[in-house]
Amino acid sequence: MLALSAKGILPRVDYAIFADTGWEPRAVYTHLDRLEREIAEPAGIPVLRVTSGNIRKDALDPDHRFASMPLYILNQDGKPGMTRRQCTGEYKIKPIKKKVRELLGFPYPARIPRGTFVEQWVGISTDEFHRAKDSDVQYMLNRHPLIDMGWSRSDCIRYLTSLGLADTPKSSCLGCPFHGNAQWRSIRDASPDEWADVVEFDAAIRKGNARANATGKRLLGEAFLHRSRVPLDQAPIDHVTAAEWAALQQELDDEAGLEELEDGVIDGCSPWACRGEVEPIQDDFGLAT
Ligand code: SF4
Repeated sequence: MLALSAKGILPRVDYAIFADTGWEPRAVYTHLDRLEREIAEPAGIPVLRVTSGNIRKDALDPDHRFASMPLYILNQDGKPGMTRRQCTGEYKIKPIKKKVRELLGFPYPARIPRGTFVEQWVGISTDEFHRAKDSDVQYMLNRHPLIDMGWSRSDCIRYLTSLGLADTPKSSCLGCPFHGNAQWRSIRDASPDEWADVVEFDAAIRKGNARANATGKRLLGEAFLHRSRVPLDQAPIDHVTAAEWAALQQELDDEAGLEELEDGVIDGCSPWACRGEVEPIQDDFGLAT
């Protein structure tokens, strides 16, 4: 959308906002720098980087209130569970709303007059139109230009390729539990230091986040980044055949399909395009609870 706007195919946006969880893959930061330099700056579009902190550091800091990641839990009775996902609200939606309020001239907690709003573009393509949602605040009006243009994911990839941006990486936290095996493998095989980083984090959150432990709310069970609920460096992330999957599914009673196992949680993590069951609550500051 930034390129479409910069190249005049869509109207020129006033700003592009990147919500930085502090733990994106290196490739994403490199790509963002390139986008800014080659696409946004020449078109006079400021790229604003906003943040609520570093999600990795916060999870391991006993003194920091932590908005939890969607971790896979193995309960003491052996039953599988998941922690609630609060991180999209805290690390993405919250800093974007804060910046939008500033841009409108009404920083939190000022009251924003009725009728004062920004138009916010959310980059959802036609193959995921079910993710298109209205904003939960009156000062942001969501638009979905890719859907209006009838563009699918392949149309976007074709366009990016025509601009020399075929290698656009997927943005998400390096250790996001929503990764599929393909993403885990690509970290392991292409970036050994980032793999060491996620393996270390996976081991460090086994007993839950540091703040919860420090405040006596210990996790009764164990937490994992991989859906198999096995330590990441031992998890079955290599390609799973349909037959292996059938056997595994019986064992785990897992509701996900082979595609999700490989490619990750389909709806993943995206502000205003979250999975249905983890909607941010309707409040001004966007903290999912
Ligand atoms: S990418 Fe994953 S871990 Fe990061 S904020 Fe989104 S859901 Fe949370």
